[in-house]
Amino acid sequence: KGIGEMLNVENMVVSYGNIRAVREVSLTVGDGEFVVLIGNNGAGKTSTLKAICGVNSPSGGTVNLNGENITGKPSHKIAAKRVAMVPEGRRVFAGMTVRENLDMGAFLRRDKKSIENDRETVYELFPVLRERFRQPAGTLSGGEQQMLAIGRALMAQPQYLLLDEPSLGLAPIMVESIFEKIVQINRQGISLLMVEQNAFLALSVANRGYVMDSGEIVLAGTAEELLENDMVKRVYLGME
Ligand code: ATP
Repeated sequence: KGIGEMLNVENMVVSYGNIRAVREVSLTVGDGEFVVLIGNNGAGKTSTLKAICGVNSPSGGTVNLNGENITGKPSHKIAAKRVAMVPEGRRVFAGMTVRENLDMGAFLRRDKKSIENDRETVYELFPVLRERFRQPAGTLSGGEQQMLAIGRALMAQPQYLLLDEPSLGLAPIMVESIFEKIVQINRQGISLLMVEQNAFLALSVANRGYVMDSGEIVLAGTAEELLENDMVKRVYLGME
C-alpha cells in the first residue's frame, strides 16, 4: 500500500430531477479508517454511498480513490478498483444458495485459489454461512442474510467497504453480533464507510463520523467528539 491512500469525496452533488439529495458533500476515508455517516431519514446518506460506488452518477464534485479520479465511472469499474458496497435491506439472491451468493461477489476475479481462500475467510468470520452453504439464501434469517450480504461484498477483496444501514430491521442481539463482525473486518485492514441510523452504536465503534442533514454535512469529528456534542446528543442520541 502506498502512502496517502484514501477515498476522497469533494463537493459532491447528487440530484434526482429537481431534487438535490446531496449538496456539495466533502468527506474522506483514510486507509484503515472506520468512518460513519449518521443523520435522519432522507438526509442523503444512501445517495452519497451510491454515488461514490457508481450506482448513481454524481452531478457535481469529484470522487478520488488513492489519487485517481473515479467520478461517474460505472459501478463494475469502481468495484474492480476494490470499492464494494453492501446495500440497505441486504439484497441477497434469494433463490441462489449461500455459496452461489458468495461466488457472485467474486465474479470479477479469475484467481481461483485466492477466491477459495477468501471464501474460507468469510466462513471463518461467519460460521453460520459455512453451515448453510447449500441452502437458498431466501431461507436464512434476516441477520444471516445481512452476514451473507457482507460476506459477498468481502469476496470482491475490497480496500474500501461501504455499508448501508447494516442494523436495519434486525433484533438487538443480532445487531450487536453484526457490529462485532464489522469491527473485525476493519481490524483486518479494510477501510469502512458506514451509514447508520443508530448513531450511538455507530459512534461507539467508529474512529470518525459525519452528520448529514438535508443533503449537507453539518458536523464532522472524531467519534468521541460527536458523542460529546450537544446537538448530536439532543437530535441523534435522544438525550437532553
Ligand atoms: P434513508 O435512511 O431513508 O435511506 P438517506 O439519508 O439515505 O435516507 P437518501 O435515500 O439518500 O437519504 O435520500 C435523500 C433524498 O433523495 C430524499 O429526499 C429522497 O426522497 C430522495 N431520493 C432518493 N432516491 C431517489 C430517487 N431514486 N428518485 C427521487 N428521489 C430520491
